[in-house]
Amino acid sequence: MSKEHLGGGLATDAEARARVEELVTRLTAYKASYYAGEPEVSDDAYDALEDELRRLAPAHPFLARVGTDEIADAWEKARHEIPMGSLNKVTNEGELNEWLERCNTLLAKEEAEAIDGDLYVAEKLDGISVELIYRDGAFADGITRGDGEIGERITPNVARMRGVPPRIAHEGTVSVRGEIILRLSDKEVHFKDYASPRNAAAGTARRLDGQLNEHLTVLCYDITEEVELGTEVEKFELLRELGFATPNTYAGDLEAVLRIYRRYEDGYREQLDYEIDGLVVRANDLRRQGLLGELNHRPRAAVAFKFASPRKVSRVKSITWETGPSGRVTPLAEVEPVELVGATVRRASLHNMANVRRLGIGVGDEVLVSRRNDVIPYIEEVTQKLGGEEQPPERCAVCDAGLEIDGEYLLCRNDLCPARVEGRIHNWIDAIGALEWGDKLIATLVEKEMVKEPLDLYRLTVDDIAGLERHGKKSAQNALDQLHGRLPLSLETFLTALGIEKFSTQTARLIVNAGYDDLDKLFAASVEELAAIKGLGDIKAQNIVDGLARRRAEIERLREGGIEPVVGEAAGPLSGKTFAITGTHDRPRKEIVNLIEDNGGRVLSGVTKELDYLIIADPASTSSKAQKARRYDTELIDTAGLLALIGGS
Ligand SMILES: [Zn+2]
Repeated sequence: MSKEHLGGGLATDAEARARVEELVTRLTAYKASYYAGEPEVSDDAYDALEDELRRLAPAHPFLARVGTDEIADAWEKARHEIPMGSLNKVTNEGELNEWLERCNTLLAKEEAEAIDGDLYVAEKLDGISVELIYRDGAFADGITRGDGEIGERITPNVARMRGVPPRIAHEGTVSVRGEIILRLSDKEVHFKDYASPRNAAAGTARRLDGQLNEHLTVLCYDITEEVELGTEVEKFELLRELGFATPNTYAGDLEAVLRIYRRYEDGYREQLDYEIDGLVVRANDLRRQGLLGELNHRPRAAVAFKFASPRKVSRVKSITWETGPSGRVTPLAEVEPVELVGATVRRASLHNMANVRRLGIGVGDEVLVSRRNDVIPYIEEVTQKLGGEEQPPERCAVCDAGLEIDGEYLLCRNDLCPARVEGRIHNWIDAIGALEWGDKLIATLVEKEMVKEPLDLYRLTVDDIAGLERHGKKSAQNALDQLHGRLPLSLETFLTALGIEKFSTQTARLIVNAGYDDLDKLFAASVEELAAIKGLGDIKAQNIVDGLARRRAEIERLREGGIEPVVGEAAGPLSGKTFAITGTHDRPRKEIVNLIEDNGGRVLSGVTKELDYLIIADPASTSSKAQKARRYDTELIDTAGLLALIGGS
């Protein structure tokens, strides 16, 4: 980009000027690659870079340009009968109000009514704009937006897309505007390898062989035709009547618009089967739209009310690899601080080793940082490669044990690694179903080194716990009562509670049922013997033998401390079985819990694959929880069924 583009509104220092120049060069290249169907960076990265340019140089001519200068010539070029413009955008309520005031001032000069009492809202789709032309009721042409004036005639592909009726009940020439999108459910099945649905839609819509276009969808939002329409409401009614699919729409006053916007930002957006990046807000009345006219191919009567973008570019300062409670080693990047949705982000997760390799990320790289639904910030992609490639470590940063690769993850398998103590205690508490012990209490006990292994839990007193994490004497007593009330533990529960890798409740049950019904028999078992048990196999058997050997001393300490697992009847008729309770029942929940636990069963907090029984008032229920349980082969019973289990054995 040449320097004459650096016009008014620019930052004056040399560094900012250089950055502006760099941004324009890169954005120009990205835009060309995007329109060529081979995007180099994600839309989010593009938007973040463009936002940065807008901050540094709000009046830069690049920002006024629409579409691209270069269109690949594989498809025939076609001129739009009416140019496809774009929308001005606002990003907060203040800017929305300013837009409304501008409209109302202009309308007042024309002696027309203000528009804030009569607005129309449609979802702003994140896809590829397209014009559909019908001649005497038959679909005749599909033309991409291109630069707004000239696009590409991809008619055969559009004809295969969903939401495009081959015939409509309307004479004459009708031009319909829509957006080619990829539904997330279709992406999941047919386009797994693509990073973003929009990139997948852009690439697929331009495929010369037309393949996979039947999995794309067109949602329509505008129609130009001879019949006089008065409002946006009528326009969308007509679109729907003619058989077009449309985005969700709403009509109302300013307050309603703000309410709808907040609802989308509060999570409704995530429930949709397609991606949207904002709402299009416009005057409902088409006459007033006409009065307001256009400026730079952008209608004055409409704005894109964009959702707050939880993404920004930053730079990687360092990468560390942290061992978590499960032994998984998570790469974390320290980045140059950026403000994201009201918080200063300094660290962001890189998820796992495979992701680091996939990103090819290294210290010094410019990256896109995101923050979704207030989870920890995450690095989405490398927007510019400036550093080397990060190499995963060979040893655990906490205990110095050699790390192992397990699929996409790097693992510290040292059972005595201090980073894993909390995870082990957590697993023990979970497995025995001591729900009184919250996560924070466990974390505090481990942090204060009051608990290093499960046996330490049984040595705690009321005074040890009282005063920690808002526990008084009474709740401390409750927690201890629950812990000791679970004794004796069934052998299955005891083995599961150790949290040895690949040692699930089901595996423990298989082993016990195969005759290894006390710990000494199990310690004496060889890998070959365990591998011969149906449903186990070599790998699990090896894991179990290794895991038990590593934990031998800890297990012996538990036994010496009186925590000796028992088998079958001694542990009660519900021994080794897990239960979850949902909904209301003919007796208090607490009573049901006691009934299960007094008979050796365990109560889990939710439906998981490990769950044996879901206690539900109506075992024939079709609620989502009930259906999930059925998928996991969990048995659904009511309280009468529970009593039968107890009484029947
Ligand atoms: Zn370690």
